[in-house]
Amino acid sequence: MMSNLDAPARMSSPEQQIESLREQLNRYNYLYYVLDRPEIDDATYDRLYHQLVGLEQEHPALITSDSPTQRVGDAPLKLFETVKHPVRLYSLDNVFSEEELIAWEKRVEKLLDRPDSSIDYVAELKIDGLAVTLLYENGHLVRGATRGNGTEGENITSNLKTIKSIPLKIPVTGDAKVPDRVEIRGEVFMPKEAFIQLNQERNLRGEPEFANPRNAGAGSVRQLDPRITASRNLDAFFYGATVLEAGQAPLPKNHWAMLETLSAWGFKTNPGKQHCQGLQEIMAFVHHWDQRRRELSFATDGVVVKVNPLVWQDELGYTAKSPRWAVAFKYVPEVLETRVVEIEFSVGRTGVITPVAIMEPVFISGSTVQRATLHNFEELAKKDVRPGDTVKVQKAAEIIPEVIEVVLAKRPASAHEPVLPPAHCPVCEAPVVAIPGEVALRCGNPSGCPAQVLRRLQHWVSKGALDIDGVGPALLEQLVESRLVESPADLYKLSVDDFLTLERMALKSAENAYTAIQKSKQQPLARLINGLGIRHVGQETAILLAQTFGSIPAISEASLETLTQIPGVGEKVAESIVVFFADAGNQQLLAQLRDSGFALQETESNAASQATSTLFQDQTFVLTGTLPTLSRQEASDLIRAHGGKISGSVSKKTDYVLAGTEAGSKLAKAEQLGVKIISESDLLAKLDSAVSEDPS
Ligand code: NAD
Repeated sequence: MMSNLDAPARMSSPEQQIESLREQLNRYNYLYYVLDRPEIDDATYDRLYHQLVGLEQEHPALITSDSPTQRVGDAPLKLFETVKHPVRLYSLDNVFSEEELIAWEKRVEKLLDRPDSSIDYVAELKIDGLAVTLLYENGHLVRGATRGNGTEGENITSNLKTIKSIPLKIPVTGDAKVPDRVEIRGEVFMPKEAFIQLNQERNLRGEPEFANPRNAGAGSVRQLDPRITASRNLDAFFYGATVLEAGQAPLPKNHWAMLETLSAWGFKTNPGKQHCQGLQEIMAFVHHWDQRRRELSFATDGVVVKVNPLVWQDELGYTAKSPRWAVAFKYVPEVLETRVVEIEFSVGRTGVITPVAIMEPVFISGSTVQRATLHNFEELAKKDVRPGDTVKVQKAAEIIPEVIEVVLAKRPASAHEPVLPPAHCPVCEAPVVAIPGEVALRCGNPSGCPAQVLRRLQHWVSKGALDIDGVGPALLEQLVESRLVESPADLYKLSVDDFLTLERMALKSAENAYTAIQKSKQQPLARLINGLGIRHVGQETAILLAQTFGSIPAISEASLETLTQIPGVGEKVAESIVVFFADAGNQQLLAQLRDSGFALQETESNAASQATSTLFQDQTFVLTGTLPTLSRQEASDLIRAHGGKISGSVSKKTDYVLAGTEAGSKLAKAEQLGVKIISESDLLAKLDSAVSEDPS
């Protein structure tokens, strides 16, 4: 994650230093906000950013409106419709110490002309996720968008609707009133457990892992297919309401009351929050959570402190980038030293060889760390980590162990030579190959290398692929070692007796493993495609391919041109698909799978099992007319995501006709046949009641 940063040369002019920092920060912003693929960790980014702030404060004449210090986020992705926010969204200024927080408080007191410490604040945990804003009209969710650059964001309504904790309709109880138009602001995040699982699955598939839950969350809500978002177990906390048209609703007078109102309206609010009087109480909150935050199920990177009364917030106003009435106290990641015992070469499913630092155990950010990936041999050469070296380690986003750098002063005199890439696979000894244009080195023996065979099988049985419960890593290892299994197709040839020949295998577990394997033949086509382990084809592309072609033979026959025409499939991916299906070994695997009972195509029953809920299982919908807020595609995606089917024509078998304005003959036919006709709000109410009944 850490790279050699080109800190501005000491001797260069302030202009040059500022220019160089802006260039670097703009690049890092693009990687972080647009591509969700940061190259440096947040602490390093924050250091560079504050260097720029310092220089601009010394030379105010050099501040320009396009400086990263004057702008929020980055341009929204063009893949989505652009939304102009009715009210701007801001970032937050950061402080890193109690002294800086005191200075901030003093500034607030001065601006409000209240030097008597009479200001009350709200302290809230800062959620490390993605800022979103939801527009509700008459209580109905009509639009959801990312913050983007603060003025314009991306319309990600259908994706946000898959997050169960986001109300599709604000439930009103008793005499309570909801504003006619209101924007609710908050943070979508990926819980730590979901993040770890997603990365494990990506690792098994040979896909790049997400750097932290924030990027994983941001990548997940910015998907073209809402079902992928739905599969990512996202959650959201809300912290603000901007009333656009109040109607008859009373307005809260302070931030704390606003949080209570949000809870009453059915929004999840941050569990770590406190109404504080003065700095001492705020610092006690900061220290309390610094100790406890690692036990939380979501990632936090600090505490946000906000002036409580809304009139004072208005009085304080905003800078070009942030509110003056709030500040983020950022927690500094724990960095410790330990010694590297060895550099291990691990072989992945696609044969990629990854250097991993094996270290003396060190307790850091809540758990013992012993291994840290060095990602690839370029990174290893850059960091020049050698056995015997003392290294600084931290957990990126408090989760992923990471070697920051070698402490060169502590390198022993008898140190090892730099670690070089291996010429042979550490497992099967086949020659290592470099693929032109790629950083990775691979073992050149895909079908014979036991490490690759094992990883492929692990991927095959994994949750995102064929999801075969009860066939875990230890069992797979035994199956490979005993040569009973060399490819996924061999799994389907195993009998209960074959399992009984393995160590510690009782009849019951043998039968369970056998049944789970046989049952996996019914899995949806997208899971099978994912399981095949085609390079660059992960869960998302597998869904696209299944939807577009409907069968393996159809994908196999598709030309490069046809494949590249699918939105979301680039040239590299298309090429890899063509290469995969041109391979005789892969064709043989597919033939074996077919012979063992795989349909190799989407069937009604396996399409239904992709759904995120069974609310509409076995129900057929026909859409007609223009819906008030959802596009046809969004409505269809929602229905399918809940197990329903979409048909183009109305018949007696149709369960519902979803009708909008200017509905035509389909509506007339539905009336004639007595088919139930529902509106968009009926559909959303059905979804909403299903969501609120869901105990999770
Ligand atoms: P930020 O994340 O520091 O703070 C602003 C955001 O905090 C708001 O948009 C809001 O959604 C969120 N937030 C979370 N909990 C909140 C709460 N309880 N109340 C109010 N807001 C809350 O600012 P940013 O502009 O989103 O991002 C800047 C930060 O992102 C940098 O400080 C850096 O750490 C990171 N970054 C890293 C890289 C990199 O390459 N590693 C690049 C760019 C930015």
